[in-house]
Amino acid sequence: MPTYAWTVIGAGPAGIAAVGRLLDHGIAAEKIAWIDPAFAVGDLGQKWRSVSSNTIAETFLGFLNASAAFRFAEAPPTPLQEVDPEDTCALDLVADPLVWVTQQLRERVHVVQATATSLSLHQRQWRIDTEHREVFSDNVILAVGAVPKSLSYPHLDEIPVEVALDPEKLAAQSLDGATVAVFGSSHSSMIALPNLLRQPVEKVINFYRTPLKYAVYLDGWILFDDTGLKGHAAAWARENIDGKHPDRLERCWVSSPEFQEKLEACDRVVYTVGFERRQLPATPQWGELEYNQQNGIIAPGLFGLGIAFPEYAEDRYGFGEHRVGLKKFMDYLNSVLPLWLHYGT
Ligand SMILES: Cc1cc2nc3c(=O)[nH]c(=O)nc-3n(C[C@H](O)[C@H](O)[C@H](O)COP(=O)(O)OP(=O)(O)OC[C@H]3O[C@@H](n4cnc5c(N)ncnc54)[C@H](O)[C@@H]3O)c2cc1C
Repeated sequence: MPTYAWTVIGAGPAGIAAVGRLLDHGIAAEKIAWIDPAFAVGDLGQKWRSVSSNTIAETFLGFLNASAAFRFAEAPPTPLQEVDPEDTCALDLVADPLVWVTQQLRERVHVVQATATSLSLHQRQWRIDTEHREVFSDNVILAVGAVPKSLSYPHLDEIPVEVALDPEKLAAQSLDGATVAVFGSSHSSMIALPNLLRQPVEKVINFYRTPLKYAVYLDGWILFDDTGLKGHAAAWARENIDGKHPDRLERCWVSSPEFQEKLEACDRVVYTVGFERRQLPATPQWGELEYNQQNGIIAPGLFGLGIAFPEYAEDRYGFGEHRVGLKKFMDYLNSVLPLWLHYGT
């Protein structure tokens, strides 16, 4: 049974970055194992393709050019390169080049198309179990992604976030005359709301907890870079939430006396209330593991990356956010990988 130097679990943008940068650091391709059930660019490639980005095209190109092992310079021309570099775009414009990058990385490293079910450390070596086989590795990077959070209002028929964010899938729902509750004030909320208002719904009620927050582009940095609204979502919110509500849109503060009555008027619901880490492979030796939010270390030779284990950083005014986005994963990896290469089992 071969032992790998590194195993990357997850082939979303974070897992792709990890494999690319390990190769760039001189880890031999045959010493790297890569585990994912689909190798289809994670949720970005499978669920969010039609979503309008909150990142400008130049930043996506920065990600694609940040690893020599991606060989992006050799990729066929892509529509992402045609977009104004300062403009946002649909996420499929970055998903497609990432499919290409995945394919050519897969040809180099050892690929296990499976889900990792458990992780354990024995004699300074990680054992990773999957449905098909076990993998032994000195080091493991977990890049397993996140799933949308939910709330529990069982009398309401839920429209999954990935449907609400995709106009084609939403059009296939029968929403004629429906009153739809949308919980949240996030980037996803400000995409789901106009999508729903384009459907023959009776009314949409947006239930919120806090005022909206907008990202502000300043000299060399962005205020509320990770939690503020950006791009088309910000423009729509300024006009229609903080400006004049469209006819069929109501808003309701969740702590207001009308909350219960308004909620009872609804028949469908969309929860755009953030994301939480996807269930990890079981770690029976320790139970649930914590990660270090500044350097991604979970255990000796075990590290976390991507939306499941984001960096926490403060801006120059001391406001702290979890750093989520492709380029942020790459920049963070560049700062922590030299450390990980020295923090083995
Ligand atoms: C509405 C929306 C808008 C967004 N807009 C932007 C944007 O404008 N700019 C930007 O940079 N990013 C954007 N993102 C993407 C965001 O950065 C995501 O955080 C990113 O896709 C997460 O990448 P990831 O690799 O951490 O996780 P994922 O993409 O979720 O990938 C995780 C992978 O791990 C696999 N996996 C999970 N568990 C296991 C296991 N046990 N064994 C094997 N494999 C496993 C999964 O199958 C999946 O393939 C957006 C996301 C959303 C939802």
